[in-house]
Amino acid sequence: MKDQSVSRRSFLKGAALLASIAVVPAVVVSKEAAAAKMAKAAMQYQDTPKGAAECDKCVQFIPGKKPECKVIEGDISPKGWCLVFSPKA
Ligand code: SF4
Repeated sequence: MKDQSVSRRSFLKGAALLASIAVVPAVVVSKEAAAAKMAKAAMQYQDTPKGAAECDKCVQFIPGKKPECKVIEGDISPKGWCLVFSPKA
C-alpha cells in the first residue's frame, strides 16, 4: 500500500516536471518573438510627422540619446511616424 502512494507521488512529481519543461520553450519563443522588431519600410516609417502624430507622442517611443521604438527596428526620429502609431493617453 505504501508503495502505491510513493509511486503516485513520484508520478505526480514527474508529471509536474514534464509540464514545466514543456512550458519553458514556449516562454523562450515568446520572448524572442517579442524582441523581434518590424522593418521600417514594412510599417511605412518616415522621419517626419503625419499631421500631429509623431513618435515622441506614441506609446511605443523610447526616448534617449538614440531614440528607439519598441516595435520598429533601428534608429528613429522623435518627429517620425509609422503605420502603428498609437497615441499616448
Ligand atoms: S510605433 Fe511608429 S510612430 Fe510609434 S514610436 Fe514607433 S516608429 Fe514612431
